[in-house]
Amino acid sequence: MAEFPEKKDPKSILRPVLLLSLVGLALILSAIFLLSPAAYSEKSSGEKTRATLDQTPLSSGGSAAPGVPANVEKPVEGRYDFRINGGQTFYKIMTLLGLPGSEIQNIARAARPVYDLRQLKQDTVFRIFTLDNEWRRMEYRFSAYETLVVEKDGGTAEGVKATKTELPHEEREVVVSGVIESSLYEDGVKAGADPQVMMNLTDIFAWDVDFTSDIQKGDTFRILYEALYVDGVPMSAGRILGAEMVNEGKKYSAVYFEGKDGYYDLDGKSLRRTLLKSPLRFRRITSYFTKSRFHPILKKFRPHHGIDYGASKGTPVESAGSGRVAFSGWKNGYGNFIEIRHNNNYSTGYGHLSRIAKGVRTGAKVSQGDLIGYVGSTGISTGPHLHYEVKIGGRLINPLSVKAVADVSIGKKERQRFAAVSAEVLRKLSGADTRVAVVSPAPSSQPGSEPATSTRRN
Ligand SMILES: [Zn+2]
Repeated sequence: MAEFPEKKDPKSILRPVLLLSLVGLALILSAIFLLSPAAYSEKSSGEKTRATLDQTPLSSGGSAAPGVPANVEKPVEGRYDFRINGGQTFYKIMTLLGLPGSEIQNIARAARPVYDLRQLKQDTVFRIFTLDNEWRRMEYRFSAYETLVVEKDGGTAEGVKATKTELPHEEREVVVSGVIESSLYEDGVKAGADPQVMMNLTDIFAWDVDFTSDIQKGDTFRILYEALYVDGVPMSAGRILGAEMVNEGKKYSAVYFEGKDGYYDLDGKSLRRTLLKSPLRFRRITSYFTKSRFHPILKKFRPHHGIDYGASKGTPVESAGSGRVAFSGWKNGYGNFIEIRHNNNYSTGYGHLSRIAKGVRTGAKVSQGDLIGYVGSTGISTGPHLHYEVKIGGRLINPLSVKAVADVSIGKKERQRFAAVSAEVLRKLSGADTRVAVVSPAPSSQPGSEPATSTRRN
């Protein structure tokens, strides 16, 4: 599966902005730009090194900064936002503020029941409020909806009080649908789906659809997934509960079934397929997968990265899984050879065939169990046998180590419950369930559709 640079994803760039606006919109609006201690040092040295920049607060507000003589009559307030990145730690921030080690430890100890300040997360913001150049309050939003609040409090033994505040949040179900214009990922995100959801979708259908070559313009998708909403805004995506894809005119469905923790088609068959135990019905193994084997013809030791099945000439060979033919023809010592790509990860190879079955050309689609050729002795071979190999991520592995999924479908006992679950998923996917938020694609990508807003119909 392709990797998508997270940094370039507009959502991850927006998230800190969103975070800021949620926590302190009013403060930002009323903030007056002031020099922070870090900004001071930058100015005096006249150099902007990366290290200095990392320590520069995002913004500061209030009516004065440390170092500026405080007005005796009016307490001077300040606010500092530290972006956590690189080697930024709580201890470093506090040291920057000039706090002694004992006080830093005292604060960390008081905060620990709520949040361990030694574990500040990347791309979060640590906020400090000051009064007359002394800290009086610290805020750290450590999850989508939880914020640690540390306050100076003379009433406690430590002089520090830590509490947790929570934004209103709820788990909702969301339906996103769209038509593919450029790629499933791009069009999914354009339609309003969380990028992670699109990645997970390709995992779910990995055995049915080759997302690198099969996806075509006009293919459609529909996804039902859980999403965490904070203050009415979708913050993160959870599990996919159901999905539908139409690829090259064929419809694929996936239903998440709790308890068996997997995805099934509407017939209750697992989508997490596996390769057949063997591409031959009747066989005996004559040579195993090994790093070193004495080659009877080449008369030397060579690795054997496959399995040899002894069988008589003409024995039918089946495709170990569904997929697309990546190679079909003569390949050196392999003789007549077929390679089939099953998904983005798996491929299988079949060598020394006497004949390749009709229609099994490079680029053709095959289903699991399809007849693809016949056992033979072409290429470098001592007698009729099938050389069978399996690749995962381009690396040859021992075919016998491929795990067989013991239970690939919903059993009789759970049929009824599964039928109820899949009916509900289908109803939600169709948009008929008004409790589910429906996110529609942007008008530009789909003329005549609703604007790209998250609407919750009740
Ligand atoms: Zn072999």
